[in-house]
Amino acid sequence: MLPKNYQLIYEIVEESGLGHHLTPSEIYALARRRRPGLGLTTVYRGLERLRDLGLVSELNVPGADAAAYEPSGPRHAHFRCKRCGTIEDVAFAIPARTLRKLAAAHGFTIDAERITFGGRCSACSA
Ligand SMILES: [Zn+2]
Ligand SMILES: [Zn+2]
Repeated sequence: MLPKNYQLIYEIVEESGLGHHLTPSEIYALARRRRPGLGLTTVYRGLERLRDLGLVSELNVPGADAAAYEPSGPRHAHFRCKRCGTIEDVAFAIPARTLRKLAAAHGFTIDAERITFGGRCSACSA
């Protein structure tokens, strides 16, 4: 059972839906509307816990100011626009066969994968 405050944070990330990436301060603002006494530290701790439990995914996108959070869902990559900073989901993941080959060649095990593309989003390249 999750503490009530963490449950609320989880719901906020889930409700944002796939393809949305919320920063802790955005989550904090949304959480305060429902539970005004909630502190920012609780939000940070809750996000850490939810991430460790695999209930939300954390993204650390190069060039972005803060980590962002999204519902955990199918593996995907991200794209960050260098001009406007928008982050989009990209339906791409390294094939399992390639990961196995890399792991075997290096003698390590892989349990995390982060792919971020950079460039200009469609609006900024128009
Ligand atoms: Zn852009
Ligand atoms: Zn995403």
